[in-house]
Amino acid sequence: MPATSAHKSHFRTIQTIHLDYAPITVTQYESTRTGMRVVVTDQAGPKVNGYFALATEIHDDSGAPHTLEHLVFMGSKSYRYKGLLDKLATRAYSTTNAWTATEQTAYTLDTAGWEGFAQILPVYLEHVIVPTLTDAACYTEVHHIDGTGQDAGVVYSEMQGVQNTQEDLMQLAAKRLMYPAGNGFRYETGGMMEQLRVLTADRIRQFHKEMYQPKNLCLVLTGEVNHPQLLHILDQFEDTILEDVPSFDAPFHRPWTESKRAPALAKTVVETVKFPEEDESMGEVLVAFFGPEYNDHKECAALGILLIYLCGSSISVLENTLVEREQLCSMIYYNTEPRPNLAIEFQMSAVETGKLKQVEHRLIELLGEVAANDLDMAYMHDCIRRWRRQIKMKCEGGSYFFANPVIEDHLFGSRDGRDLKQLATLDELDALEKWSESDWRGFFKKYLVDAHHISVLGEPSKELSERITADEKERVQKQKERLGEEGLEKLGEKLKKAQAENDKPIPDSVLEEFPVPSAKSVHFISTTTARAGLARKAGKPGDNEIQRLIDEDDHDSPLYIHYEHIPSNFVRIKLDMCTAAIPLRLKPLISLYMMNLFTTPVYKDGKRMEFEEVVLELERETVAYGVDSESANYEMLSIALEVEPESYERIIGWLRILLFDAIHDAERLYSSLTKLLADIPDEKRSGDSMVYQVTSMIQYKPESSVRARSTLAKAVYLRRIRKLLKADPKAAIAQLDELCRALSRPENFRIFVSADIQKLSKPVSAWKMLISGLETGKPLEPLDNRKALLSQVGRSPGHAAYIIPMAAIDSSYAFLTGNGPEGYDHADLPAYMVARAYMDAVEGPLWVAVRGTGLAYGTGFSMAVETGKLLFRISRSPDTFKAFTAAKEQVEGYASGKYEMDKFALEGAVSEIVLGMADEQPTFASAAEHSFGNQAIRGISKEWNHQMLGKVQAVTPQQVQEAMRKYMVPIFRPESSNLVVTCAQIMKDTLEAGFKEYKPEVRTLESFEDDYGAPEVEGDDDDGEEEEDGDDDDDEDEPMDTPESEEED
Ligand SMILES: [Zn+2]
Repeated sequence: MPATSAHKSHFRTIQTIHLDYAPITVTQYESTRTGMRVVVTDQAGPKVNGYFALATEIHDDSGAPHTLEHLVFMGSKSYRYKGLLDKLATRAYSTTNAWTATEQTAYTLDTAGWEGFAQILPVYLEHVIVPTLTDAACYTEVHHIDGTGQDAGVVYSEMQGVQNTQEDLMQLAAKRLMYPAGNGFRYETGGMMEQLRVLTADRIRQFHKEMYQPKNLCLVLTGEVNHPQLLHILDQFEDTILEDVPSFDAPFHRPWTESKRAPALAKTVVETVKFPEEDESMGEVLVAFFGPEYNDHKECAALGILLIYLCGSSISVLENTLVEREQLCSMIYYNTEPRPNLAIEFQMSAVETGKLKQVEHRLIELLGEVAANDLDMAYMHDCIRRWRRQIKMKCEGGSYFFANPVIEDHLFGSRDGRDLKQLATLDELDALEKWSESDWRGFFKKYLVDAHHISVLGEPSKELSERITADEKERVQKQKERLGEEGLEKLGEKLKKAQAENDKPIPDSVLEEFPVPSAKSVHFISTTTARAGLARKAGKPGDNEIQRLIDEDDHDSPLYIHYEHIPSNFVRIKLDMCTAAIPLRLKPLISLYMMNLFTTPVYKDGKRMEFEEVVLELERETVAYGVDSESANYEMLSIALEVEPESYERIIGWLRILLFDAIHDAERLYSSLTKLLADIPDEKRSGDSMVYQVTSMIQYKPESSVRARSTLAKAVYLRRIRKLLKADPKAAIAQLDELCRALSRPENFRIFVSADIQKLSKPVSAWKMLISGLETGKPLEPLDNRKALLSQVGRSPGHAAYIIPMAAIDSSYAFLTGNGPEGYDHADLPAYMVARAYMDAVEGPLWVAVRGTGLAYGTGFSMAVETGKLLFRISRSPDTFKAFTAAKEQVEGYASGKYEMDKFALEGAVSEIVLGMADEQPTFASAAEHSFGNQAIRGISKEWNHQMLGKVQAVTPQQVQEAMRKYMVPIFRPESSNLVVTCAQIMKDTLEAGFKEYKPEVRTLESFEDDYGAPEVEGDDDDGEEEEDGDDDDDEDEPMDTPESEEED
């Protein structure tokens, strides 16, 4: 609802846009006093999301944009406390975050309920517009030299972690080739290390003054937003900052739109860039072109469609030729960067180093070949239609979809709102449906064939890796010498002073000004459950109109079908299968099954249909499809399909074909295996992922499908299968056939349909086609039991401790497992949940003690309720033992009462749980899926979360303390926890000595591999060796990648 005129706001409505393809309204406002812009997308549900975006342009690599982003969180005019914003946010069901790209810095506020959002909004905005930007904050956050002579600082360390990675080096090289000096897109806005070392606080303050003006700020809000209240809050906020900001008509150079455009490329350039990497076998290729102008909406849409046509799936020509048929790279991706002239990028991964040039050349040649022949207009139209469906579906999916176009409009669009107005319709797609083959070909040639391009060949270099390490050592050594003992001591003092200034405590009175918003302000979505067939026996059918509709069509279906009725233009189907029946020796084949499921030839109507045709048909019928583990039970497999109601029956027909009429073709399987194997070296370079995977290997029985799908089970097994496939294809295929038979049995299916059930003419009987002619009537098989799959080590923690040195990492990671409350109705669960939220909070005890002191990038507890296990992880630490000790000290301190629990933080912990629940089900579709997961898989009530919310709010501080004593303390004791550590080679001895109470065994990663008894096969393999030759040395700082949240609840 737009603002009423009764409220005399200083904000004027620029426009209200009613989308004609989805029930969504977008309202755009502008402040008549400061020029600040606000765009609100109304959407029902528990979440309110905000993006506060500023267009930022800078012509150097100083890193002022990125460092400023960090400093904003260090305090503002009226709230001069570091961490206050996060503390408040935590209590108001919110989280904050921010990112800096080349063209913008955006701050996010992610909240459950409007009340909490409204409370934080003005405080947050003050931090953005009037931050303190003190010297002390700049010193600790950006860069300083510590007392030992090492360069440090939060941003500095962050950039140190990425600056020399293959991705960043290639991206920077591409920017330098595409944009001339003086063009803002040429620069590294994150900050290059050498420049961060000399960046001054004044430079950052100056940049803030230039760029962080209200007229350069756009607030993008989505959710149940109260418009009049919003404008009132903003008016009041503006009252407090008018003196701090330039007046509305003060001259302002608008970034990007008023800056000089980059000229078209004068020639094609191919450049080789080395990146540090011990394994020199594989490199990458990046190719970039300039695209259409940002505000040419039709051409931009045409580019989007053309890229889907060329590179959107395994049957599109680039992927099909380069990946599937010629196998020149493991994948080709495309991307467009928002720019005044779009930038188009193609990236090819895992290209043999010796073939980089040739593969780049092949891509360009292929583009030429495609443009020289007739385009497949039927497929082009399929792409347009599919994209249209996907847009409509994304409209149901929440805020993220609209945030980007709105932010881009703020960056590059016309101030009068005419570009944003384009959101109203999909007219440009209508126009494109009328484009002729020659229109498309002309467009294709204009941008991708006749245009110049730049290419960056990323070449791995062991020498560079060594040189970077040596140079850095030498630089630090010289720095120490230059500073001398006295100088270092002084720097140590200076740092302490700055830290003390930053860390001054927040008085209770400040926090008390902000009462915790009522949990009732969070409006959860409800759905209607109905059941058919075997599901009726599993749970009492609902007493509602939808159940009656289902009953009318249910003639004793032998299938288990669970329905959730929601308002939607789409049908979401899941077919879940248990994996218990798969013979043990075949378990690691599940990965191949999943990779191959949708890209295999089939029999349809008695005829063989090639995989390209299958994909084509699936794309035609669906919005999306895929196979993954079931999120409510990771042992199970879940095939998911999203379609329009009119495709409901046809897609069930396709399920039948995929499950029962697939042809396992040696060539296709070989291709799938090659792709799976190509990813393994990369997976094995991640310390974070491996610490988790080793834990999985030791704590689960081999029968566990999660374990069998882990990298350590795939590595040897799949290589042998690929050799077998070459030597004796029939034998290999027979194995996969056997696996399929174990899975594809009606009594092993649990089906989930979420839709507007009234739009389905045969919601139940349509499923007959899945099982016609098959044997049915057997009782439903029990769900996979995760608890029963725990190994002895997993069942009773306290008997395993391993340290695994890995050459590929220069940091360390740890994973501890202990016992936690078991079962969803466990009496200790609410108190444990609060204890966990308390310890894990942003700016909470562990954050301050471990992350805040630089002992690790992060730590966190998680739990698996169904197995009764509690987990604690330490990520990217220079010394996991020190991080472990600091965390242990905190946990024991709070459990014993040595540290007193902070009542504000305790309220904050409860709020975090509310936010977490809202995050699980922000939309109708996710609420429906959650309802299915709870009722059909977890075996708990649909209302479980809401009931738990009540229990959590009633937890006393004593109960929290008791939960810490009972569950968290033991996870730091060797007799009651399992420990797995991955670390850099050099850290092995220190960590072994540190963790001596655990009596850890030092083992190689390979020693945890399991071949599941797959026999060795004589014969050649394309990759030569039979076994992996251990971890590849690699000094590269891997970007943080969180372990699969597999164990998290
Ligand atoms: Zn950062």
